[in-house]
Amino acid sequence: MENKILLEIVTPERALIKEWVDEVTAPGTEGEFGVLPGHTPFLTTLKIGEISYKKDNATKYIAVSWGYAEVGPSQVTILAEAAEIAEEIDTKRAEEARARALAILAKKDAEESQFKLAEATLEKTMVRMQVAGRIGK
Ligand code: ATP
Repeated sequence: MENKILLEIVTPERALIKEWVDEVTAPGTEGEFGVLPGHTPFLTTLKIGEISYKKDNATKYIAVSWGYAEVGPSQVTILAEAAEIAEEIDTKRAEEARARALAILAKKDAEESQFKLAEATLEKTMVRMQVAGRIGK
């Protein structure tokens, strides 16, 4: 399709989306990047953050937790460790996971590995709540 990008997002568990879109923004490890049709090819790792894409003047949001993005002139392929579209995010679950993470972070005797995991969970849950909030959840 001319002047469109084929956005494909997959995780080890499932294929999330495969759609022709107008524009994609994603959280690269080196910073957020935007892709329009005709972009120079590149490969990057992704951090925990928000992916957004525009299609027919509507913007859609997806929470992503790590992965890779491969960008070409007419395609963006994302292999993510975990990803959820805004509509399917369970905010109660995210709030509970956030509370558990905060409790671990508050412990003075938490092990380094536990601490690191809790920090990542905190970040993931904040992004999940932000993405859910985009659609008023
Ligand atoms: P929890 O402690 O609630 O399980 P987690 O941060 O440990 O959260 P992950 O390991 O990041 O969860 O994800 C496990 C799977 O559950 C992934 O497929 C992810 O997309 C999904 N998932 C995690 N949290 C949510 C949520 N709040 N709403 C919908 N799907 C979620």
